[in-house]
Amino acid sequence: AKANGKARYQVFEQTMHNLALYNFQLESDLRHALERQELEAYYQPIVNAISNEITSFEALVRWNHPEKGLVVPNKFIPIAEETGLVIAIDLFVLRQACQQLRIWRDAGIVKHSLTMNVNLSVKHFMSFDLLEQIDRVLEETGIDGDSLRLEITESDIMENAEFAGKIIAQLHDRHIQLSIDDFGTGYSSLSYLHRLPINHLKIDRSFVMRIGKNGKNTEIIKAIIALAKSLDMFTIAEGVETQEQLAQIRELHCDFCQGYLFSRPVNAEAAQNLLLTGFKT
Ligand code: C2E
Ligand code: CA
Ligand code: CA
Ligand code: CA
Repeated sequence: AKANGKARYQVFEQTMHNLALYNFQLESDLRHALERQELEAYYQPIVNAISNEITSFEALVRWNHPEKGLVVPNKFIPIAEETGLVIAIDLFVLRQACQQLRIWRDAGIVKHSLTMNVNLSVKHFMSFDLLEQIDRVLEETGIDGDSLRLEITESDIMENAEFAGKIIAQLHDRHIQLSIDDFGTGYSSLSYLHRLPINHLKIDRSFVMRIGKNGKNTEIIKAIIALAKSLDMFTIAEGVETQEQLAQIRELHCDFCQGYLFSRPVNAEAAQNLLLTGFKT
């Protein structure tokens, strides 16, 4: 048994070693990815739950890796967060999303009310030059603050609530909207959240997935929607995949929907086609 244990440990050690090597390689690839412009913003529509009209796009990063092909963020955002590279990635996506909005506006393809949702990692959110960077991108692209929504999680805010409150106030001064991502999965203090100028709660996909299938789960969604309404916030259901889910979401008076039922995240060209054709659902 002892020999067996030792062999198993060696396998473990080898695996850890390979994983470290893999991550190291990925990290160095990622550094080059930014320089070589291998990153690209994809866009997923957020639609009005009643009219199906596209009201916003969430910009989601993709990596066109020369050997691995299209790499999704869950594979590299965690490493980027560890190394701090995520700040450059977030900024790149922010800039690309604002540039894209500019292009669509200039071409007369979108209404002025169409907004862009951009994800911010906590590292970036808490960095001292965040506001300066955002101001620069908005100025460069001629996009107003009220066309931009930043997505952060509740836990990110709670990590350093006092500092977060200050940043949020300054975003609010610029009319930049704030959406709480994955709402319901993190730790948050409601007594604190209600004092912040938050515009949207995004109901996490894990709740939407089980809607109608599980009574307790539906009650949670109802509670989140009621909470949002009482705090003058809008709700966005994440990960809507089926007509049944959409019907239930509508019945609960959730304001906006996002999910594969409407569209997967797509490149700018395909997003533009969605804008031109709309949804029949
Ligand atoms: P998230 O912000 O919660 O984004 C939603 C994720 O759910 C996206 O995955 C999206 O493709 C996926 N999704 C949307 N609708 C459906 C659906 O109906 N069914 C299913 N199964 N999934 C759906 P994605 O693009 O792979 O991104 C994963 C996560 O990576 C994001 O989760 C976000 O936390 C992070 N991320 C993506 N882009 C960025 C970025 O530019 N900066 C930072 N910091 N994080 C990012
Ligand atoms: Ca998000
Ligand atoms: Ca989310
Ligand atoms: Ca998430």
